[in-house]
This record gives sequence, structure tokens and C-alpha cells, in this order.
Amino acid sequence: MTQTHKMGVTDQVTLTQFIIEQQRGLPEASGTFTLLLNNIVTACKQISHLVNRGALVGVLGSAETENVQGEVQKKLDVITNDIMVKALDWGGHLGGMASEENDDPIQIPKQYPKGKYLVLFDPLDGSSNIDINLTVGTIFSVLRCREGVEPEPEDFLRKGSEQVCAGFVVYGPSTMLVLTTGHGVNGFTLDQDIGEFILTHRNMRIPEDTSEFAINMSNQRFWEPPVKRYIDECVAGKDGPRGKNFNMRWIASLAADVYRILNRGGVFLYPYDIRDPERPGRLRLMYEANPMAFIIEQAGGACTTGKERILDIKPHDIHQRVPLIFGAKNEVERIISYYQQP
Ligand code: MN
Ligand code: MN
Repeated sequence: MTQTHKMGVTDQVTLTQFIIEQQRGLPEASGTFTLLLNNIVTACKQISHLVNRGALVGVLGSAETENVQGEVQKKLDVITNDIMVKALDWGGHLGGMASEENDDPIQIPKQYPKGKYLVLFDPLDGSSNIDINLTVGTIFSVLRCREGVEPEPEDFLRKGSEQVCAGFVVYGPSTMLVLTTGHGVNGFTLDQDIGEFILTHRNMRIPEDTSEFAINMSNQRFWEPPVKRYIDECVAGKDGPRGKNFNMRWIASLAADVYRILNRGGVFLYPYDIRDPERPGRLRLMYEANPMAFIIEQAGGACTTGKERILDIKPHDIHQRVPLIFGAKNEVERIISYYQQP
């Protein structure tokens, strides 16, 4: 489990200091990446402020528009998307961006130079929770791109294993940023008074075992047999084959569910669903599953569709959805083994 303690001001490590120190000594280290990350963080601070002000600044409720997935957009879906785009497009470090809220990749305006990274993001994760004052988040993924060329939509369709950085912010009682660049996972708490993210959760690790699961039970009748079996065995508790009782937690905000599992363990399932073969899962590969899978594996957990490691999926559509099962390594491996049995 992650150790946290209150620290003196002089011991504090800011996110910027942490990134620069972590990158020192890495051959590919560049100030460009630090600037890119700083711009993402600036956007997240603005989003944090807006989410916190809520009804006082008139940002709650529906925008009365639909996104590319046919979902009704919240006002904050639209506003937070604009904040991300405006914070990122000018810096010269990006070849392009892609957002859950936009049909097509977002081009860098002509007046700005282009750089060597692509950023993909879900600007407001769990936005259906916003009007009931529950935790929401922002999720992002960074890929490398070919320099000096306008990226084609196919340039974004890369496996999760090629990500150079992934992170998410949860806007909860505290605003927290969780980040990996492929060297473990670290958590930072936003100090609202000085406007900086401070390293508070060093080297976050997911315990390999758990007795807590997260799933939307109302979809039970649409699950495949391996998932039905796994959940039945958990629910059977002490008298069942697992010989221990389980608890259920379900926040329905991916960023908040991942944050909980990073801190106290657990397993999360939004599995394959027989309702609509055109839509094999609920969560999006490029904006949700890939960045979370990178973080979870870096924290010692596992992440799968049940049949395939998330980070190995070759994407075919920038908005494609996937089944998503992740968390405690031993539990995820058990679910995979159920899928492998005839
Ligand atoms: Mn989301
Ligand atoms: Mn969203």
C-alpha cells in the first residue's frame, strides 16, 4: 500500500521538478515533453476550478448536443474539451490531438509549429456524475508521432504498448493527478493555495490479491459465462469456492474507480456484453482503456478484455470500444483462466 504523510514545505516535490529529475539521465529526455505535460496540467487545474465552482458559474447540466458516440453532451463535456484543446495547441510540441468528444483528430492551427507527440484525451470522464456532485476526471495518453508531417487519422491508431506517458486527474475531495512515463506510477495532490501538484503518493502499487470487485450488476444477464462464473463465486462468499467474503464498489466514473483500486486494491469489470455485437464494450480503447492499462500495469496490476491484453490491441477505429477488466493481478489472471476454459 502507498504510504502518505504530511510533509514540511521544504520537502515538497512539485510535478515539474519530479518530471525534470526523472528525465535527467534518460537519452530521449527533452524539455518539450516537460512543456507538454505542463500544458496538460494547466488545463486540468482550470477544469478542477470549474468543477469545484459548479452551479455558481453555471456550468452544470446538458449542452443539448450529441457527441460522435450519440451521447448527450453535458455543458462541461464541451467546456473541458475546449480547455484541453486551447491549453495544448499552441506549444509546438504536438503533431495533433484526438478527443473522445470530437469526430476526427484535432489539427494544430497553422500559425503554430508542430512537434513530435500526439495527445489523446477524455476531457471529462464520468460526466454523468457531475450533476450529482460525484467525482469526475480527465484521462490522457501521449504517443510519439512522425515529425514534420500532418498526422493522418491512422497515425493515432497505435497499440497502447507504444504510449510514452499516460495519466489521469480525479476531481474529488482533493484534486489528484496520477502519472506514468513507464517508470512506475506516482500520485500528486493539487495544492490549491499555490496552484501546484505536489508529489504525495510515491510508487503506487496495486496489491496482487483483493476481496473487492466493481461491476455494473444490472447488466448481469448480458455477461458471458466466464464473467458470470467469476462474479457468482465472489458473491457466494465464505460458503463458495473462494472461501472468503467479497465486497462490491461501483462509482461509475472510470478515473475514480481506477484511483480507488490503485490505493486499496480491487478488481474492475466492464466486460463484453452480448446486447450489441457492434459495440463489444462500453469504454473507449484510445481515451480510457489504453491510458488506464499503462498505469495499472506499471503499478503491478493487470488489464485485459478477458481474451487479450489491452496494451496489445491493434486499434482499427479511434473511437472503438473494448471490454475492460483490470486490477489485482491474481484476480485478473483468474478471470483470464476462466475465459480459456472451454
Ligand atoms: Mn470517460
Ligand atoms: Mn468524457
